Order: sequence, then C-alpha cells, then structure tokens
Amino acid sequence: MGKKGEVICPHCSSIQVIKNGKSNGKQTYLCKSCYSRFFLDRVKKRYPASIKKETIKLYNEGYTLTELSKKFNIKVQTIHYWIKTLNRRKQ
Ligand SMILES: [Zn+2]
Repeated sequence: MGKKGEVICPHCSSIQVIKNGKSNGKQTYLCKSCYSRFFLDRVKKRYPASIKKETIKLYNEGYTLTELSKKFNIKVQTIHYWIKTLNRRKQ
C-alpha cells in the first residue's frame, strides 16, 4: 500500500507532487510531472478496506468494472487501479 501522506496526481498518476500553498483555506498541490494544480480533497478519496475487498471479490466473480462502478459508486479508474495493484502484489 502507498506511503502515508502520499499524494497522487489525478491527471497523470505521478507521485511527484508538492504542496503549493493554500487557496481559500484548502491545501493545493502541484504536480511536477504535468504541472497541473489540484486540491487534495478532490483526489484523495479513501474507501474502506471492506469495500475494496468486496469490489475485488465481485470482480473475480465476473462483474465488469462498469457494473461495480455503478454498484458501489466508485470510479472505474479507481477499481481498475485496485485490481492492477492487487495483481502486481500477488505475482
Ligand atoms: Zn500530473
């Protein structure tokens, strides 16, 4: 799992992200790879481990990413990322 406090760029998935001051009281971040700026709270949406486990379980049972996305209201990219990282860890 990712390091604590690690911020991932929502545009290019880079972890080369630095703090870029505050805007309206919100911490903003700057990606050093694609130079986009973003807010953390729009990016770092954490899901409970139980949801993640359930999603992956159902995926293995034959559900498609789109079906799971609708069922749990999670972005397809997020689920895809979970499955990808899980498969990588298993091998
Ligand atoms: Zn980026």
